[in-house]
This record gives sequence, structure tokens and C-alpha cells, in this order.
Amino acid sequence: MARFRLGLFGGTFDPPHIGHLVVAQDVVERLVLDELLFIPAGSPPHKTGKIISPAPLRVEMVRALTSGSEVFRVSEVEVSREGPSYSVDTLRYFRDLHPDAEIFFILGADQAAAFDTWQSPGEVASLATLVVMAREGLEAPSGMFTSVPVTRVDISATDIRDRVREGRTIQYLVPDSVRHIIENNRLYRAVS
Ligand code: ATP
Repeated sequence: MARFRLGLFGGTFDPPHIGHLVVAQDVVERLVLDELLFIPAGSPPHKTGKIISPAPLRVEMVRALTSGSEVFRVSEVEVSREGPSYSVDTLRYFRDLHPDAEIFFILGADQAAAFDTWQSPGEVASLATLVVMAREGLEAPSGMFTSVPVTRVDISATDIRDRVREGRTIQYLVPDSVRHIIENNRLYRAVS
């Protein structure tokens, strides 16, 4: 039987947006994944000092974002863990859970560029195939990374937060379900 092909896609997802969906779908198609797990970070080591929306709300938004898909799933493994979220711990967890699966760890080009600064990068690389989403204009580092070309979608969570704060619309940048969660919880209104 063919090995189960599992993709892991971590991020702050504050908020998750259409850009995440588009690139995630590209990755699923290219790598022929059986499942792609969106993994909202609990306390991202690279973003300490920044104010991040509460984990339950980010999880709710990621669930809303991915609810229409058969292949996308959400994992709360990082938000339910105490302390900073290290990818190596997440990978060990999924390796134990799916010993026979082929695991792909999906990184943005920005994350891949900082890979050397991560906790135990060698072990991370030994636990999964590292896949960097290569965007036109953003050079993907070679070496230990497999590069997957993805559609260029110039949407970022930072831009969405700025728009909300400025009272501008975010319609179509996020699904309505995500926009309603943002509005109902008055997220991103204050300067962060
Ligand atoms: P922020 O603007 O707050 O840094 P973000 O939109 O980049 O957030 P993250 O939650 O950090 O969102 O994203 C998770 C991963 O998705 C990162 O690896 C990031 O590189 C990637 N990503 C985010 N937006 C896009 C996009 N439009 N195209 C390709 N990859 C993206």
C-alpha cells in the first residue's frame, strides 16, 4: 500500500487568509498529499514581543478558513502545548503518531531563510521532507529543501490587520466566515 502523505503547514495565522488557501492547495496538488494539517502556533518563538490574538480565536479562524476542504485539517498540537512552539517538538509528535507516513514540512520562503536559527534544525530535517514554497521573486534556498512553486498571492496577515485598524474592508481577502469572527471579536482594532 502507498504510504500516507501528510503535509504540515504551521503559521501564526493571525488571521488566516485566502493566500494561505491558495498556496496550500498548490502544495497539496504538487506533492499529491492525502492530508494537509494547518497548525496554528501557540507562542511563536520568532514573534515574541508582538501581541498575537488568543489561540482559541486563531484556531476558530483557521477552522473556518479550511472548513470547505476534504484535505485540509487543523491541528491544535502547538496551541495546547505549554511554552514556546518549536517545530522539532511538533515533528517528533507527528512522527510518533504516523510512523509509516511520508511527512512533508511546509515552509514559507521567509521561514526557510531563517531555518539555521531554529531549535535543532538537523533533527527537523531528519524527521520530514522540508518543502519551501517558492514564490516568484523570493529565491528559495537550495540544499536540504525541496522547492515547490506556488501561485504568487500578495496577501499578508500584516496587511489585513492594518486594513482593519484603518477601517478599510477585508472582504475577499478572507472568507466571510473568517471576517465575521474578526468583526464579532473586534480583532485588530488597536495598534499591535
Ligand atoms: P504576517 O504578515 O503576520 O507575518 P503571514 O500572512 O505571513 O503573517 P503566517 O501565519 O505567518 O502569515 O503564514 C504562515 C506561512 O504562510 C508562512 O510560512 C508564510 O510565509 C506563508 N504565507 C503567508 N502568506 C502567504 C502568501 N500570500 N503566499 C505564500 N505564502 C504565504
